[in-house]
Amino acid sequence: MQAPSVGGVRLPKGKGETIRLPRGASLTDFADKINANPASLVQVLFHLGEMVTSTQSVSDEILELLGGEMNYQVQVVSPEEEDRELLDSFSISYGEDAGGEDDLVVRPPVVTVMGHVDHGKTRLLDSIRKANVMEGEAGGITQHIGAYQVVTELEGVERPITFIDTPGHEAFTAMRARGAQVTDIAIIVVAADDGVMPQTVEAINHAQAASVPIVVAVNKIDKEGANPAKIRQQLTEYGLVAEEYGGDTMFVDVSARQGTNIEGVLEAVLLTADAALDLRANPDMEAQGVAIEAHLDRGRGPVATVLVQRGTLRVGDSVVAGDASGRVRRMLDEHGEDVHEALPSQPVQVIGFTSVPGAGDTFLVVDEDRVARQIADRRRARDRNAELASRRKRVSLEDLDAALKETDSLNLIIKGDNSGTVEALEDALMKIDVGDDVELRVTHRGVGGITESDINLAIADNTIVLGFNVRAEGKATELANREGVEIRYYSVIYQAIDEIEAALKGMLKPEYEEVELGRAEVRDVFRSSKVGTIAGCMVLGGEIRRNARARLLRDNVVVVENQPVSSLRRFKDDAVEVREGFECGLTLGNFNDLKVGDIIETFEMREKPRA
Ligand code: GDP
Repeated sequence: MQAPSVGGVRLPKGKGETIRLPRGASLTDFADKINANPASLVQVLFHLGEMVTSTQSVSDEILELLGGEMNYQVQVVSPEEEDRELLDSFSISYGEDAGGEDDLVVRPPVVTVMGHVDHGKTRLLDSIRKANVMEGEAGGITQHIGAYQVVTELEGVERPITFIDTPGHEAFTAMRARGAQVTDIAIIVVAADDGVMPQTVEAINHAQAASVPIVVAVNKIDKEGANPAKIRQQLTEYGLVAEEYGGDTMFVDVSARQGTNIEGVLEAVLLTADAALDLRANPDMEAQGVAIEAHLDRGRGPVATVLVQRGTLRVGDSVVAGDASGRVRRMLDEHGEDVHEALPSQPVQVIGFTSVPGAGDTFLVVDEDRVARQIADRRRARDRNAELASRRKRVSLEDLDAALKETDSLNLIIKGDNSGTVEALEDALMKIDVGDDVELRVTHRGVGGITESDINLAIADNTIVLGFNVRAEGKATELANREGVEIRYYSVIYQAIDEIEAALKGMLKPEYEEVELGRAEVRDVFRSSKVGTIAGCMVLGGEIRRNARARLLRDNVVVVENQPVSSLRRFKDDAVEVREGFECGLTLGNFNDLKVGDIIETFEMREKPRA
């Protein structure tokens, strides 16, 4: 059978077999799977109208197009699937409770507080934390570990509730984007004196999109002008109808500042959980959950707060979270006390990771340290590949031209003391708007000090390294000095943003605008064997300067652009400039087709100041 060919390129032909490729694979990856030469795949795509290089990461559509052309079924594997397969290969299944119905035990709800800025989210979390100091407990909740548990009594039973201690929907959506659904119930805080605002609506949308039931805390009822009934009215528009109006959403009027009715909020959370959710988990398995916060502590090394979602986490367990692995050396709760076990829905700070996991990374316990390490290594390698792939510039036929002209870009490596600030800084930097001329790229990010390997990456990429509350390790500083890599240290996000923004603006090529200098009309034409055609002109406006750029208009149509006024005379003498109302003779570069009645416009390009 003859191999199919596209544009004369002979193709390796499949028999309809399935090839699995990771999202963002390159033609080289594809070629490896089918034992073909990557260059031939590049050619095939070229004939199909797609210009890509062999190592560039390509879209799902291109992979499928290419597969179709060569009779292969292409299956693009998402990062989540890839991870599932990785865990499968160790016979681990993440995300499911082991056993059957009988093994499931009720677990506390996990709550996130969201709402518009200044409506009192932080204050409410504070009040809940304070209101719940149990008798005999010294100090209450003293540590901000990213989440805390409080206990409330409902119908004579003491029941815990877990609160995520970062208000706002940013953390909520960031975690969800990574496939981690942590929140069971959302408390939407609305200030009774202000009403429903844009971020209120956003928060509601996020919660509803994730099918997370909502409890509304109508806050600041102590304030004059507070109108809790109006809030109920406004929220019906968003599908939140209060129970007293026949709906199924609980509204609780509170004052976070005065601590009024905080218990009411806690009860509403439990009642909503009981009515809408079946929150159960199997505590009898190796623990699984999500890392909700992590940072590098000077004395203790990497410290991560994990929320156990199922199973029981114990000191001594081998754990992996994202691409960080380790063994639980110590666990601390929000009271700063050592704990030896953490049950479903319980947050604990874990000490013992060898590197810092990312906020939102899934975490799980495995049988042995070795397995934890292998999973972490494989994930790191995969992320590194994906990062390299996304760094390659995507070029389509249309913008090939633009891509060939050198684009100006500022590359950054961000290192910081915890994953939250690194992400916040990256987000903020990516929002800097300097138009399309300059590109800002974060080529690497991470938690911890600046290392030699960061500097090596910076050399290759021509990059500035930002250290946020971290320093360069000794050897890294030497290397950076030797290689001329710039390291900048910050401890305030805004300062970092200001400086990077200034740097980007400094990189902008100057913009020019045309400024008209003068206009003249051709009244007479002379031919000279020495200088070509000379136009005898009358200056109608402005002034005509020697060497200025000129264009020629005939009946308002541009005949020629961008010719220099190469000679300029008044009577017999050379002139530098001739003003309005005077006559002159001039030549326009080597343009000779001048006619009586033509208009000559002269202009210069001036640099435009940047806003
Ligand atoms: P967040 O941006 O939603 O976290 O809002 P904050 O918790 O920081 O609160 C914003 C402002 O509102 C602060 O000055 C609080 O003291 C104030 N505030 C919060 N809750 C109440 C309340 O119940 N009553 C009054 N009068 N002020 C409040």
